[in-house]
Amino acid sequence: MSRWHAEYAWLGRPGPAADVLIEVTDGRFTAVTAGVTPAPADATRLAGLTLPGLANAHSHAFHRALRGRTHAERGTFWTWRDRMYEVAARLTPDRYLALARATYAEMALAGITCVGEFHYLHHDADGARYADPNAMGSALVEAAAAAGIRLTLLDTAYLTAGVDGAPLAGPQRRFGDGDAARWAERVDAFAPAGAHVRRGAAIHSVRAVPAGQLPEVVGWARRRHAPLHVHLSEQRAENDACVAYHGKTPTRLLADAGALGPATTAVHATHLTGDDLAALGGSGTGVCLCPTTERDLADGIGPARGLADAGSPLSLGSDSHAVIDMFEEARAVELDERLRTQQRGHFTPDELLGAATAAGHAALGWADAGRIAVGQRADLVTVRLDTARTAGTDPAGAVFAATAADVAHVVVDGRTVVADGRHVSIDVPRALRHAIAEVMR
Ligand SMILES: [Zn+2]
Repeated sequence: MSRWHAEYAWLGRPGPAADVLIEVTDGRFTAVTAGVTPAPADATRLAGLTLPGLANAHSHAFHRALRGRTHAERGTFWTWRDRMYEVAARLTPDRYLALARATYAEMALAGITCVGEFHYLHHDADGARYADPNAMGSALVEAAAAAGIRLTLLDTAYLTAGVDGAPLAGPQRRFGDGDAARWAERVDAFAPAGAHVRRGAAIHSVRAVPAGQLPEVVGWARRRHAPLHVHLSEQRAENDACVAYHGKTPTRLLADAGALGPATTAVHATHLTGDDLAALGGSGTGVCLCPTTERDLADGIGPARGLADAGSPLSLGSDSHAVIDMFEEARAVELDERLRTQQRGHFTPDELLGAATAAGHAALGWADAGRIAVGQRADLVTVRLDTARTAGTDPAGAVFAATAADVAHVVVDGRTVVADGRHVSIDVPRALRHAIAEVMR
C-alpha cells in the first residue's frame, strides 16, 4: 500500500477538502479521508491542490510538430491543413514513436493521465499497408507506455476526401483503408499489448466516411462497447457541403446512421442548428470541446452551455497541441461563453474540472478513472499553490489561475510519473526537440 497526504484535494464536491489522506493498493484508491492531521509519517506529502487525473479526450499527436510554425500565417483552416499534411507525409513508424512519446510525456508533465488519440495516419506514404498494417498504432501504444499515461486508441476510418465520395489523393492516401469493411478487418487484427491501452473507433468526419458506410463503423464500436468519436461541424464549409449533397446537416446524417448516443463523442460541435443541438443533447451524445485549437484555427465558438443543458456531457481536448494545458482548455469553456454572450458565470469551477477529469475519462471508455474515490484508478495531479501564478489564490478557483507549468506531481494508476515538475524517465524538452527536428528538416 502507498499513502499520500494532500494539503488540499478536490473530491468532486464543491470546493477542495483539506488534509486528505489517500491510500492506494494495486493502482486503486482504497481509502480517501479528509481532515487527517498531523500527516502520518509514512505518507508522501503533496503540497498544493491535488486533482484527479486529467483526460485529454482529443489528440493528434503529430500536430505537436507544428507548434510555433503556423500561428503567424494568414489563411484558413484549410490552408493550415496543407501544412499539417506536409508533416504527416514525413512520418514513419519510428519517427512517429519518437514524436508521440515526447508529446505524451509533455502531456504527463501537464497532469494528463489519459489521452484519446484520434488516429488516422495508418499507412505508408503511397497508401500501401505496412508489413504490420497496424505499425503506426503500435507506435502510439508504445509511446504512451513510455510516457507513463493511459491511451484510448481511437482508430479512425478515413475513406474519402469529400462528402461527395471523392477519392483520397496525395498525402491523404496514407489515411485510407479503401472501405469500412477493410478498416474493420485491419482494426480487428490489432491486439495492442498493455493494461494502459484501450481501443475505440472514430469516424473522421462526414467528409471522410460515406453515409452508406457509417453503420459499419458504428456497428464495430457498438459490438465491442467501445467509444466512438467523430469530428463534427468544426467548419461551416463542412455543413454547407453536407447539406448541399445529402440535404441534411452532419449531425442529422450521423443521427440517421445510428451514430449518436452516450458512447459517442462529437468533437468540436461548433456550428450547430437548434435541431442539431437537440439531437446531440437528447441522445446523450458527449461533446469534446477543444477551445485552444478552435481559437488557433479560427473555427468559432460552440454552444457549450446549450449543449450541456440539452444533455451532452462535455469533455476537453488539446487536439492540434498548439497548447497542451487542460486548465487553459477548461477555463476557456467559460471564458469563451462570456465573450459570446457578454455575461459571466455560465460554468462553475467544479463543472469545468469535471469536464477535464471524470467526463473526459468516461468519453474515452475509462469509467473507473477521473475521481479521487475508493475503487477508482489511482491518478493524482498536484498543482502547486506557491508559484508566481498561483500564490495567494483561493484553491477553489485554481482552475482559473493555474497552468500546466504549475503541475508538480503526477501519479498514474498508483505509479509516480512526474515528481517535482520533472518526468521520471524522459527529458521532455530534449525529446521534443529531437523528434520534431527529425520530421521538420
Ligand atoms: Zn481533431
